[in-house]
Amino acid sequence: MHPLIPIRRCWHSFFFKQSYFVEEVCQDAKNFYQRGWLLGTAGNFSIRGHKINGSNEHTYWVTASGLDKAHLSVEDFIHLAGGLRYVHPKETRKPSDESLVHEAIYQHIPQANVVYHVHPPYGTWVSRQQAGQASVLKLPAIEMIKGVGFSTHDVDANVVILANTQSMQDLCTALAPLWPTLNVPAFFIQGHGLYAWGATPQDAKRHVEVLEFLFQQQVWDALTPRALPHGY
Ligand SMILES: [Zn+2]
Repeated sequence: MHPLIPIRRCWHSFFFKQSYFVEEVCQDAKNFYQRGWLLGTAGNFSIRGHKINGSNEHTYWVTASGLDKAHLSVEDFIHLAGGLRYVHPKETRKPSDESLVHEAIYQHIPQANVVYHVHPPYGTWVSRQQAGQASVLKLPAIEMIKGVGFSTHDVDANVVILANTQSMQDLCTALAPLWPTLNVPAFFIQGHGLYAWGATPQDAKRHVEVLEFLFQQQVWDALTPRALPHGY
């Protein structure tokens, strides 16, 4: 088995089960990169960590800033606590710029153990067609919708689209009232990218894939004449 988070970085990492996810998360990042969803060092990944002793606060492991996502390894994750505090005082690397959003997801979604942030092209195009600031995008009621947690295709499913900003604090403030309203395990930042999560890497990967598939359908719906010529 691949080693877990190296002992020299964090001896207690061996004792939290989510660290077993690291290898799988790195594989998923490579897979997404190859599909063009993480070009140019885009995107970031995280895994929920253990609780801080004597508190209910969870730590999390998040990718360092500016990495090529085709070649992630267990060494590329930084252990953070709330407010972007380093768990290990000797840590000096810069965590992903979007770490605060990962932190907010772990705080508000107890079942999220893994968070994936990707820049998928179809979702990005669809989000750019949405007018204004925060909005809700209805997803097509087709079979694939079941991949984000529904038992039937016949549902009213939607994804929240938030205005893009370079301030992660502003983004978290915009998200604050929206957590209870999310009916898929994800949200989208307009013209930017998707955040999706799951209890396991398999779940988070499925949510990313299914949502990008649904966005692709919406692009095709928008760009394809309703009545295709006979025999097309
Ligand atoms: Zn991003």
